[in-house]
Amino acid sequence: MSGEFNLIDKYFAHRQANRQDVDLALGDDCALVSPPEGYQLAISTDTVVLGTHFLANADPSAVAYKALMSNISDLAAMGATPAWFSMAISLPEIDEAWLAPFCDSMFTLADAHHLQLIGGDTTKGPLSISFTIQGLVPKGKALTRSGAQVGDWIFVSGNLGDSQAGLSVILNPEDANKPHAKELVSRHFYAQSRIKLAERLRDHATSCIDISDGVMSDLKHVLKRSNVSAQVEITQLPISDLATDFFGDTQQAQLAALQSGEEYELCFTISKQDKPLLDEIAQQVGCLLTCIGQVTENQRDAEHTIQLLRNGLPIQEDDLARQVHGFDHFN
Ligand code: ADP
Ligand code: MG
Repeated sequence: MSGEFNLIDKYFAHRQANRQDVDLALGDDCALVSPPEGYQLAISTDTVVLGTHFLANADPSAVAYKALMSNISDLAAMGATPAWFSMAISLPEIDEAWLAPFCDSMFTLADAHHLQLIGGDTTKGPLSISFTIQGLVPKGKALTRSGAQVGDWIFVSGNLGDSQAGLSVILNPEDANKPHAKELVSRHFYAQSRIKLAERLRDHATSCIDISDGVMSDLKHVLKRSNVSAQVEITQLPISDLATDFFGDTQQAQLAALQSGEEYELCFTISKQDKPLLDEIAQQVGCLLTCIGQVTENQRDAEHTIQLLRNGLPIQEDDLARQVHGFDHFN
């Protein structure tokens, strides 16, 4: 695109302190990095597109934060420590009023994770941003989706439901009058980083995933890959007071918490033996950790299923179907 090089120079290059393991960053045909001995690279890509993942009036700072955080969250889900990222950006025009806050927000979040931009691609076209992030994890220590064992406890970090409440405000103007609407929109865009937690879970969690599609849907991936089933007690779901107020009652908030996507919280399993360690880990990393259920054996005619309980009693699927929009999620 015309002015591409000025744009790269002005907005993307020379913005960060060099990591010692970056030998060559922006400016050549490839970046060069030197991964340390004894580590594996964890690599993930995510794209956000105007109209699909955010609206035209979205704050560019929030778009940058959310887009990069969704990638950082993938590293957290693997127990990896952020190291480098590249950015493929497609822009309809060079709009300084959009680019400046976008870049400030992106580099602030990157710096907070000692994460360096090492390259990318810039093209003219409909607005979309694609990040590829690379992290480091000690060899053999990555947290995968496949290690959950029967009897393990299922935990989630933080609260569930805020992101869905925020999204609902963004998409439905009438929701702007509901309690805490503004704060919940902010929570939708600005998820907290769970990297510190992930680094502590490396030696203990048996499986891990980040909540991008909703805990029901994401836990299902773990169950499938681990070939197990689960019970989840919905009265144990961690829900903020804000979300409870917003959704109007506890039951509605619980249902929202089950489905709320883009939370970027971690859902992980841990052995009975290691469970007591989580109190100390929660305190050290300053993050709420809540046990929401347990891994169970597959039943002969029902593999990888989640049995929902309310106060220990199974919830009938029909009851839920009546209450929850998007019941297909659960299958
Ligand atoms: P090439 O033609 O070899 O792909 P480019 O002209 O696309 O090179 O990019 C020049 C340099 O600027 C490369 O080092 C590339 O990694 C970097 N770069 C281009 N766009 C971006 C971007 N959006 N973010 C970070 N680096 C970028
Ligand atoms: Mg290029």
